[in-house]
Amino acid sequence: MAFEYAPAPESRAVVDIAPSYGLFIDGEFTEAAEGKVFKTVSPSTEEVLSEVAQASEADVDRAVKAARRAFEKWSALPGSERAKYLFRIARIIQERSRELAVLETLDNGKPIKETRDADLPLVAAHFFYYAGWADKLDHAGFGATPRPLGVAGQVIPWNFPLLMLAWKIAPALATGNTVVLKPAETTPLSALFFADICRQAGLPKGVVNILPGYGDTGAALVAHPDVNKVAFTGSTAVGKEIARTVAGTRKKLTLELGGKGANIVFDDAPIDQAVEGIVTGIFFNQGQVCCAGSRLLVQESIHDELLESLKRRLSTLRLGDPLDKNTDIGAINSAEQLARITALAEQGAEEGAERWSPACELPSSGYWFAPTLFTNVTQAHTIARDEIFGPVLSVLTFRTPDEAVAKANNTQYGLSAGIWTEKGSRILAVANKLRAGVVWSNTFNKFDPTSPFGGYKESGFGREGGRHGLEAYLDV
Ligand code: NAD
Repeated sequence: MAFEYAPAPESRAVVDIAPSYGLFIDGEFTEAAEGKVFKTVSPSTEEVLSEVAQASEADVDRAVKAARRAFEKWSALPGSERAKYLFRIARIIQERSRELAVLETLDNGKPIKETRDADLPLVAAHFFYYAGWADKLDHAGFGATPRPLGVAGQVIPWNFPLLMLAWKIAPALATGNTVVLKPAETTPLSALFFADICRQAGLPKGVVNILPGYGDTGAALVAHPDVNKVAFTGSTAVGKEIARTVAGTRKKLTLELGGKGANIVFDDAPIDQAVEGIVTGIFFNQGQVCCAGSRLLVQESIHDELLESLKRRLSTLRLGDPLDKNTDIGAINSAEQLARITALAEQGAEEGAERWSPACELPSSGYWFAPTLFTNVTQAHTIARDEIFGPVLSVLTFRTPDEAVAKANNTQYGLSAGIWTEKGSRILAVANKLRAGVVWSNTFNKFDPTSPFGGYKESGFGREGGRHGLEAYLDV
């Protein structure tokens, strides 16, 4: 008789989600001026997790004013003092990481394995890293007196809610700016828990303000005349709208937008290692990753062998309860996102690409999409051009390195790429020709706070992370 291993799911009990949350303005949780609220649900079960206040234009104004008042004192603190708060925040995140990982998994739908081992360690690492910069800005080659910009208006997406918050808030505070941040409407909870962490760390009132809401809240924040810096991560369409709003103002702007990353596998690559990288590249976070390796470019001579290994590997992935430590594939973040992925996958099949998924049973409630491969894909196919932002891989082939480069660059985006080969010289030669903000070699989706991240072309401009990430928050 087969032994069925039923692991205990990571306990929900480690996180205490209140039935309702307010906005976080000037160090206090408060109701929205118009009294509006919205529900946030768990994408894996459709269970309502909490009811959250929805910020209007009046709330944006209140929060920006609080951030402006706080700016005077916060920017005047010695960097070593600001560092103390950031180190404190980093340590509290570490202490509360189990709770935050479970919370993020509940609100986003991603596997606990990822929130526990990737999101949360990286969130803490960003705060530690930028805490370390806070007292070194005068000596970092920015010029004699680098100055903070003022109030930063930050708008983030739902795919890495707490990590995107860390990318935005840590460098802003280290450089002496104050912040008004709007989390995505489907994942507001971890930002609200972060507000609580700011209080726990004794962060002065108004330095961080959190305004849950929809796109109109984000638009009001971006347009507010007393915001000095706008940082946005999200879709290219909204990024362009924001660029239009900001044009003609003196606001500084950085945009982190979509992508259509190419993962290029040469015939000398170790196949097993490449297969792991391909899987990480497109199925990590259900492919809802801006820098996902959503196009696989494989050298023609190894196409069949690689595809066979890849299909075998995909058949071992476990889809299901994101709180189960053995789950590889969690839920899609929202019904809207699921509909978008479904429509694009259907279009792929209609346009003639060959669709394949491993046998896998989808749970009856929640938003789910099986890992999907498309072969016989050409560059003209919609699934090879448009960002799907889901667990869907389009496989194309190439014969020569030049053809690989040309195909990889044949996209409106330019965020990420990967190269798999044993030849170091080829890595350098190919990487130099790729128009992508990050090129990984023999690995994929590796992040750390010391490396700048950002795009070319329609993937946006400006860099977050590393020393470059500070420049976006300074007048130098
Ligand atoms: P989205 O652009 O619809 O939403 C992102 C955020 O912007 C949300 O908080 C949303 O409420 C807000 N928003 C919506 N309309 C707005 C407006 N008019 N003005 C101001 N704010 C507005 O994107 P999404 O569907 O939530 O996220 C997926 C997209 O984000 C994908 O295209 C993905 O590639 C991109 N993304 C990029 C990166 C990166 O670093 N480059 C990282 C994560 C996600």
